[in-house]
Amino acid sequence: MQTLIEALQRTADLVVNQFYEELARLPKSRRILEMLSEQELAHLKGRQVQNLLALAQPALNSQEHAAMAMRIGRIHAIVGLDKEELVRSRGILQELVYKQIGHRVSGQALSLYARRLTSDTAWQLKAYQAVEDSQQEVLQRITRIVWVAGSYTHFIDQVIGALSTHDELVACAIGRPDAAGIFHFEAGAGGSAQDGNVLLAALGGQGHDISVRADHPCGQGAVGRAWRSGKAERVVNYQTDPLVARWREMAEREGLRSAVALPLAAPGQPPIAVLMLYSAWPGGFVGPDQVAFVELLQTLLGCAVTRLQIQEGMHGAAVPVSVRQHRAALVRTGALEMHYQPLLNLATGRCGKVEALARLRDGERLLTPDEFLFSLASDDLLELFARGLDQALADRRQWLAAGHDLDISINLPPAALNDIRYFEATREALQTHACPSARLTLEVLETEAFSLIEGQRAILAKFRALGVLLAQDDLGSGHSGLARLRELPFDWIKIDREIAQLDGDTALDALRVVYQVTRLGHSLGKLVLAEGVDSADLLAALAILGVDGVQGYVIARPMPAAQLPGWIAGADVHDAHDASGAQAGESVLARLARFVVWEERVQLIAAAPGAARDLLKAAGFVALTPLAEALVGLGDMLPAGAARDELQSDLLRALLDGGRESDAWRAALDRLMRAIVATAQATLPPAPVPSHTH
Ligand code: C2E
Ligand code: CA
Ligand code: CA
Repeated sequence: MQTLIEALQRTADLVVNQFYEELARLPKSRRILEMLSEQELAHLKGRQVQNLLALAQPALNSQEHAAMAMRIGRIHAIVGLDKEELVRSRGILQELVYKQIGHRVSGQALSLYARRLTSDTAWQLKAYQAVEDSQQEVLQRITRIVWVAGSYTHFIDQVIGALSTHDELVACAIGRPDAAGIFHFEAGAGGSAQDGNVLLAALGGQGHDISVRADHPCGQGAVGRAWRSGKAERVVNYQTDPLVARWREMAEREGLRSAVALPLAAPGQPPIAVLMLYSAWPGGFVGPDQVAFVELLQTLLGCAVTRLQIQEGMHGAAVPVSVRQHRAALVRTGALEMHYQPLLNLATGRCGKVEALARLRDGERLLTPDEFLFSLASDDLLELFARGLDQALADRRQWLAAGHDLDISINLPPAALNDIRYFEATREALQTHACPSARLTLEVLETEAFSLIEGQRAILAKFRALGVLLAQDDLGSGHSGLARLRELPFDWIKIDREIAQLDGDTALDALRVVYQVTRLGHSLGKLVLAEGVDSADLLAALAILGVDGVQGYVIARPMPAAQLPGWIAGADVHDAHDASGAQAGESVLARLARFVVWEERVQLIAAAPGAARDLLKAAGFVALTPLAEALVGLGDMLPAGAARDELQSDLLRALLDGGRESDAWRAALDRLMRAIVATAQATLPPAPVPSHTH
């Protein structure tokens, strides 16, 4: 072996130089070599020489050898060296070694060396497998996070947590730009100190500004480019890429040699954040496996963004860490002020329940949830819930003492279904405030794209067993609300205000949706409430559609606890609403609502074979018998008269003969709509001023 070592010492430089010349002829290996600076290439060759010598050491045991080869294999895997080319290049290396020293050393030494070279290759391939396994594992973890993360902050913390264990990365960080386009990292892990905070300080440190604006000198880095292009953008080598020269030194200090910037965006939408992955070697994230990994990761994160955007209405502005910490501290220091918005029960015409909504007192300002909710981490959310519930139940006791017996509805963040502490906080608060559990409703957001996983069901079941009511919040804003409606034990459904939003041409369809959802809810034994009702016209229309409750500015805006008794007293004096029968001045919306109900009834009759149909036909459509009139008459939708009778007859004939798809039906429907609008405009008194708007 000694002669072998001596021979190698003399020739290793030559062998290695020849080896790299050969490598440069292999297409994929050449790509990798071209990414290196001269210095880096020299360094690499030096390591190769050391490696050749190490393999000749008689004392090298197989454990040490395995560890060494796996270390090198891992680097090869990370820089995306093709497996086949790895194997081929090892063959080339072996040939070169034979050519240089084969005639000088014993056959025995040579064959031992050859065996070591071969097992070296095998170990390296094993390291490839380990990197692939790590990729798989990280993707699985991220898949889980995507479907359960409760807030943007929670989400980025979890994603960074999952990625920080991944073999290929030396560091990772996520952030967003502020209104001026300056990018701020909000979470990160890894770097020289293996400490996320140190890394974030380095990335965002003095003189390392990152901008997402094309016209900004700091806007040409991977982050800025990714933000603008919506695609993954790479820094192949911080030491050679001129676009990132301004961050070169910092990257070197932190041990960041290459990177990829992944814009996080819902499909077809602009990004809301950028995730940076850093490699300890030049050329990370460009090999075919790496490209596939990065693409998958980006797709998964896009799903999460879709969910979070729905959930939080994110604006894409970064919240600097200091602000996040400040807001989290506010939650814990008595700055929480619950406000209450009355829910109107349409059956009784009274407000017997209020939704508790969080506000944070920050000096002069009162922050609303859209300003602070997304910047809270998961433990802050728990704190917010526990304190908010405590306050609400305490306020409830005060109102009770003043003679107002009110139920409380409160928002349960989606994370609560993964964290039993929410259940425990609820049980405790009910006990502390001697509140019967049926007087409390928990509003659960519709966010999961799929049905709940087992553990989440179990937690819901515990809440059920406790006896609190459950409401599905924001129905219609998420994905598969219908499947969940059937499966989950909700008492109330709250229809999101987006659905009931009425603009011009879509008003009729919006009312149809509300009506059908209401019927569906009722047939499943649930009560239905419409949210965001901000006009008296809509309120009247919803009452006609059979909705059980409404909430919105037309009834009252959220208010501090102390104002509520006064408001209730005022509300009792006035009549909350009057939905019985049409009045002369009924609005377009109310008339359209009547039409929606009419349409449904007529269709049911039309679908029934025999009697009802014959009845209608016999009536000749024009002069309806009293029974037929009651069943299918347009009633108060239009003023009585020949025009109404004719329209009614056209509608019925079209529907019974041609069905809903027929042109005749569409034409008759169109005429009816125009008649309704014209009538309402002619008879409508000045817009009624809702009596309870504060
Ligand atoms: P949400 O549960 O859907 O609450 C109703 C939101 O709609 C409230 O906004 C309320 O002020 C607003 N709103 C009510 N009527 C109308 C209307 O007629 N028109 C319009 N445009 N808006 C109306 P707020 O208080 O800003 O709360 C926003 C969201 O923040 C809530 O939506 C809820 O998801 C969340 N949130 C509020 N408080 C808490 C809390 O204590 N904990 C948790 N986890 N989330 C909360
Ligand atoms: Ca709610
Ligand atoms: Ca809601």
